[in-house]
Amino acid sequence: MTDNKATQQPAWNFDNSYARLPESFFTLLNPTPVHSPKLIILNEPLATSLGLNSQALRTIEGVEVFAGNRIPEGAQPLAQAYAGHQFGHFNRLGDGRALLLSEQITPLGERFDIQLKGSGATPYSRRGDGRAALGPMLREYIISEAMYALGIPTTRSLAVVTTGESIIREIELPGAILTRVATSHLRVGTFQYIAQWGTEEELRALADYTLQRHYPDLDVVGETNRYLLLLQEVIKRQAALIAQWQLVGFIHGVMNTDNVSISGETIDYGPCAFMDAYDPATVFSSIDTQGRYAYGNQPYIGGWNVTRFAESLLPLLHEDETLAVTIAEEALSSYTELYERNWLSGMRAKLGLFNEEPQDKSLVDSLLNLMKEYHADFTNTFRALTIDKLEDTVMFDAAEFAQWHELWQTRLSRQQESKGESQELMRSSNPAVIPRNHRVEEALEAAVNRGDFSVMERLLEVLSNPYELTPEQVDFCAMPAESNMPYRTFCGT
Ligand code: AMP
Ligand code: MG
Repeated sequence: MTDNKATQQPAWNFDNSYARLPESFFTLLNPTPVHSPKLIILNEPLATSLGLNSQALRTIEGVEVFAGNRIPEGAQPLAQAYAGHQFGHFNRLGDGRALLLSEQITPLGERFDIQLKGSGATPYSRRGDGRAALGPMLREYIISEAMYALGIPTTRSLAVVTTGESIIREIELPGAILTRVATSHLRVGTFQYIAQWGTEEELRALADYTLQRHYPDLDVVGETNRYLLLLQEVIKRQAALIAQWQLVGFIHGVMNTDNVSISGETIDYGPCAFMDAYDPATVFSSIDTQGRYAYGNQPYIGGWNVTRFAESLLPLLHEDETLAVTIAEEALSSYTELYERNWLSGMRAKLGLFNEEPQDKSLVDSLLNLMKEYHADFTNTFRALTIDKLEDTVMFDAAEFAQWHELWQTRLSRQQESKGESQELMRSSNPAVIPRNHRVEEALEAAVNRGDFSVMERLLEVLSNPYELTPEQVDFCAMPAESNMPYRTFCGT
């Protein structure tokens, strides 16, 4: 038995398709080794689904891989080149503190990027140190896994290790590395980079690679314009993704085009946070002074970002530039409608509605207006409607709300499905728990300042089942105590 364990291998099963792309797309480079790696958390269910052996990952050799101190056989680490519009301004970027270790092929034959975030300086680091701090890496772990449990497409977190080294921000902080798993790290910014500094041949190679990797069904050579199909699919996925964010009150915080994944996953958990009281103007990020990435602006910014993607694709859409622009514009014109359709069908589900009536949008809007007026908690309002327990809050006591409630009940009665069926639909559409800011902070404080990871583990446990209404979860539904200071998030770089 012991012998068996000793010989157990992590079962990394690598293939490096990205490294086969033109050289200008990346820089081959090994991570910078760290002083004394220590495993803080390992995502065992994720490891299993990747075909990895958790026991072997926990050994010294296993942990050294997460730290960048050991390169497993078959890996070919590289830093990816990309660009991006950061708060509207175009910049040359790239993996400044991350490396693509390799791509893991799972037992089901799926391909996932294995990325080390915080693994040391690269040629794209500019003035950064290439490192990351424990708090922000655990924060990404918690929120990305919460998003996954909510059923929202996202990159995932396999492990966090501490490095045994300090990093200097305003203060000294413990260094850490997150192992991130993504269907790919292809971004709108990757296309922007090649469109700006590469050749048309390279752009075609990137688009072909993307089609093969993510959308093989669209990748048929023939009459249809495959690159237009790619554009349409990316638009469709962004519209769907952002609608899902809106439906749970998720604010990404830094929707720069380098943080927009071509596969439609949520990526780059920097200053993101969930909204408490409903207000479209909500912004948490300390650097978003203009509210560009405010909750209510996210759908619009999603459209702006896919427009940047379309611009990058223009040379492939048609050889005649004017015609290419017309093709792109036509594709882009579907974004708003796709977004609204996704959002409204999600909102119908949140209110237990199966069928469609023309007045549904105004029913939803009136509820949202009331929530805004009365500063009602976004998650708890829908949770209360779901369990039909309208606690004593200012909004629920208001006469205007009683009127809305009556309208809603009448609307519910105009569908065939029973009340029980409606409630079921609402239960599966309205999470009881989300990673509330004060809970996340509490978990990070215990972990980073006291080396106590039990608070985070309990939080992760609760968040892994967001649609269950278990008694243990009730504690995690509470809103934060009133504070004079608005909640602020930081990029954590
Ligand atoms: P982000 O805000 O995480 O999306 O990062 C934006 C850009 O800054 C990316 O090119 C990152 O690789 C780079 N970057 C962020 N933090 C660091 C750091 N500590 N060292 C080097 N580059 C960084
Ligand atoms: Mg980024």
